[in-house]
Amino acid sequence: MGKLDVAILRYLTSEDFRVLTAVEMGMKNHELVPGSLVASIANLRHGGVHKLMKELCKHRLLTYERGKQYDGYRLTNSGYDYLALKALTNRKVIASFGNQIGVGKESNIYTVADEDRTPLCLKLHRLGRTCFRNIKGKRDYHAHRNRASWLYLSRISATKEFAYMKALYERDFPVPKPIDFNRHCVVMQLVHGGPLTHVTSVADPDALYDELMNLIVRLGNCGVIHGDFNEFNIMIDEDNHPIIIDFPQMVSTSHTNAELYFDRDVRCVREFFKKRFGYESDLYPKFSDLEREDELDTEVACSGYNRTKDLDNDLLEEMGIGLQVSDEESDSDDEENVEDNKTKYSEQDLEELRKEVDASIQSDTRTTVPEIAAKT
Ligand code: ADP
Ligand code: MG
Repeated sequence: MGKLDVAILRYLTSEDFRVLTAVEMGMKNHELVPGSLVASIANLRHGGVHKLMKELCKHRLLTYERGKQYDGYRLTNSGYDYLALKALTNRKVIASFGNQIGVGKESNIYTVADEDRTPLCLKLHRLGRTCFRNIKGKRDYHAHRNRASWLYLSRISATKEFAYMKALYERDFPVPKPIDFNRHCVVMQLVHGGPLTHVTSVADPDALYDELMNLIVRLGNCGVIHGDFNEFNIMIDEDNHPIIIDFPQMVSTSHTNAELYFDRDVRCVREFFKKRFGYESDLYPKFSDLEREDELDTEVACSGYNRTKDLDNDLLEEMGIGLQVSDEESDSDDEENVEDNKTKYSEQDLEELRKEVDASIQSDTRTTVPEIAAKT
């Protein structure tokens, strides 16, 4: 943690990248991926996978572990960071790295810059790792599969954040411009300013209060609730206007507990204004005031993050990611699949995995980014 070791981005070869991608694929079904499986799906022209894996372990991008009945490799946080950052640099979204500027609840935030030296913000989502222990005692059933899921949880959190940020940006909400994302990393505009929690006084609390409440209502009329609308996720820019950040937990106003989440967001603002600025108002929005004007919630839900088949509804719910993962695809009965290293792969399965590795590498070596523009 702390500094990103980015020197390694230049140092590692495309074969290293392929091996790491193969381990990533293997981790869909294994907590520890057998070396032989990595060799088979990485499918290097001249072999030598084991030597490469050993080197990657030295750089701490992989670890080799011995379990009770099995042993094998798994990606480390750094290994996963490497895959995402390599893809983002290939695309020329990122050209250089700066400092860590924040540690959120479930993320690390860095400044980066593109080729024109425009400073940008990089958010690395880090879900799951620490939460497992909390869940474990309570839910033994899940404990098993969860250890390999940090990768998917982090990825889904980033995907969801990007989808919301894009939909909001396109509707001219004051949010950072989303630039691109890959795996668990989101790249966005760097906000010049600081979180509201650092603001000790404002010239016109009344105006800022109105602006924030209007935002909550505007979001609601679009069909969404921020869900964590507090002084840490409201940035104040150089012109003293709010910029909203941090979207992975956003929910639809059609969610069963929507009113509860809505009221909580409103209460957060009221309590903060009272505590910090001694400001109180009888005027505040209610859930029943909302009037549907847009379908931002369905638009984002359709954009793909909720169709990821390797996710588990209950688990996500437990981790506070209220996703509508479709039931047909969440295979809750085959938890033995995870970390069962005796899983037999047919030649056809292996061919399928090889194709996935190829497709992933192809997309990671893409050099262009789709343009995102506000609809004004
Ligand atoms: P978490 O989900 O972990 O809470 P946040 O998205 O809230 O992460 O970011 C954590 C902190 O990083 C914020 O409080 C803010 O100080 C900083 N930060 C996040 N996004 C940006 C950005 N686009 N520009 C500048 N600072 C940011
Ligand atoms: Mg936050």
